[in-house]
Amino acid sequence: MCKHILNAQVSIRAPCCKQWYDCSECHAEKQTHKLAKTMEMAFLCKKCKKAFRKDMEHYEDSDEFCPYCDNHYVIEAKIPQAVVGVEGEDARIDARMLKDERVKPKNNHSVFAIDPDEEAALLEL
Ligand SMILES: [Zn+2]
Ligand SMILES: [Zn+2]
Ligand SMILES: [Zn+2]
Repeated sequence: MCKHILNAQVSIRAPCCKQWYDCSECHAEKQTHKLAKTMEMAFLCKKCKKAFRKDMEHYEDSDEFCPYCDNHYVIEAKIPQAVVGVEGEDARIDARMLKDERVKPKNNHSVFAIDPDEEAALLEL
C-alpha cells in the first residue's frame, strides 16, 4: 500500500530492479539505489489489472488514462502536485458538509433544532 498517493490508480515498474511500486517514494523506501529513468515506463492498472507501456518522452494529458479501462491515473512526475490537489479538494468537501449540517436543521424542523416558539407550542399540547 502506498502512503504517498491517495488512491494510487497504477503501479509503476522500476526499470532498475524490475519491482512494482505505487510511486517513486515507495521505491526509495524499499531500495537503496536511485530509481532509474526510462523513456518507456511500464504501468499496471489497479482497476483492470492490466499492464501497459507509455512513452515518457512524448507523454501527454491523454496518456493519463489506462488504455484498457480508461482509469485515470497521475504519473510520478506529477505526484507532488496531485497530493496537494487532493488535500485541497478534501478540505472543500469538508466545508460543504459542515455547511450542509448547519442548513439542514432549519429546513427540517427536526426535534434537534426546535426554536423557542415551537417548543412552547409543543409544551401546550
Ligand atoms: Zn530500483
Ligand atoms: Zn508511495
Ligand atoms: Zn485499466
